[in-house]
Amino acid sequence: MKSWHILVHGGAGELRAIPAERERACRTALRHSVEAGAQILSTGGSSLDAVIAAVKILEDSGLFNAGRGSARNAEGHREMDAAVMEGASRRAGAVAAVRSLRNPVIAAHLVAQHTPHVLLVSEGAETFALQHGAERVPPSYFRPPLDDSIPDDTVGAVALDIHGCLAAATSTGGTTRKPAGRVGDTPLIGAGTYADNRSCAVSTTGIGEYFIRAVTAYSVHARMLWGRRTLAEAAQEALEEVATLGGAGGLIGIDTMGNSITLCTTSGMYRGMGTPDGRIFTALFRDEPWKEG
Ligand code: ASP
Repeated sequence: MKSWHILVHGGAGELRAIPAERERACRTALRHSVEAGAQILSTGGSSLDAVIAAVKILEDSGLFNAGRGSARNAEGHREMDAAVMEGASRRAGAVAAVRSLRNPVIAAHLVAQHTPHVLLVSEGAETFALQHGAERVPPSYFRPPLDDSIPDDTVGAVALDIHGCLAAATSTGGTTRKPAGRVGDTPLIGAGTYADNRSCAVSTTGIGEYFIRAVTAYSVHARMLWGRRTLAEAAQEALEEVATLGGAGGLIGIDTMGNSITLCTTSGMYRGMGTPDGRIFTALFRDEPWKEG
């Protein structure tokens, strides 16, 4: 039997002074997210189902800037973006600027499943998702992150299943106080989310405009496929390119051999990892080694 692997992230940012209570809560949420994905992968389920389950947990946690914890835009509303992509068929789905859906990642999956399209936005995306069984929530459902001084924390997951298939999912409330209608890298296939079984699955986090201009997730894939780089080399180069544009952030990636990478140019990135022996690890700060449990 082939091996499986899953990585999740809860966003990159400057984490120097994170309160102990938030650290504990975030590590627990990351662990639960990895567990949800690992449960699917260890019983032969697909990497796509695993990344959706993992991201859903983080959206529901209210601890990160996605789903329940989504940041408000300049007008005080939540406008959420999400994408999913599967590496065998390169089927992808995404939603942008949705306001009342509990789980944008599920809406993104519905777009991939039930339409020939890739990206639906705003009211059209919401109406479509509700017609296909997505859950609507009232404005009172949403809550700000535990500590408003903590910067934006998009969430994402990448996984390899025992069938050798890769998948990626990313979800965000976008940058805090963004103008209404602003869409970042998260739902743009190739910018914030990408999966291709010839190379890797990638989910990014950071100020999306830089990741869009550098087409970051796709550029990791392209460097591996045509540049013959390893995943680690390709990820490093892709983030360096973001930095040359003036951007900062991070990414997680897995390749078809099960090699994984978590990389950030900020002082931290919330992240979790699950391995086939049933172990779960978390790490928050940039140079922190994986901590088990
Ligand atoms: N990339 C997200 C965006 O620009 C934000 C983040 O990762 O924190 O919408």
